[in-house]
Amino acid sequence: MSQSCIFCRIAAKDVPAGIVYEDADVVAFRDLSPQAPTHVLVIPKRHVASLSDMVEADAALLGSMMLAAKKVALAAGLTGGYRVVINSGPDAGQSVSHIHFHVLGGRPMSWPPG
Ligand code: AMP
Repeated sequence: MSQSCIFCRIAAKDVPAGIVYEDADVVAFRDLSPQAPTHVLVIPKRHVASLSDMVEADAALLGSMMLAAKKVALAAGLTGGYRVVINSGPDAGQSVSHIHFHVLGGRPMSWPPG
């Protein structure tokens, strides 16, 4: 855990957040600045800066994160569909250097994203 990482501190319950799901490896909480009626972030408890820093040994963790995203979407009642987004690196607009999946739903969405 990094004391300077806001998402590590949320995972450690050091900083309050609207946690909607948690298991041994993953935490999911409401985004502070929601871009859709449902906007939840899924993070690993262990600090990994971005998708680019994930390696083969992290395959199970990535799978757990994706399954957590599905559970969050179903729990939110997003039966009509939802979007899971990973911004990786500055060109993609990643602003917090602790890997996270955005789970977005509850409104129609266009493609391609901006
Ligand atoms: P990204 O731009 O892909 O790195 O996404 C970072 C997301 O984290 C943004 O949607 C922010 O609104 C969200 N965020 C930043 N700080 C917090 C926080 N303390 N609690 C919840 N969401 C946060």
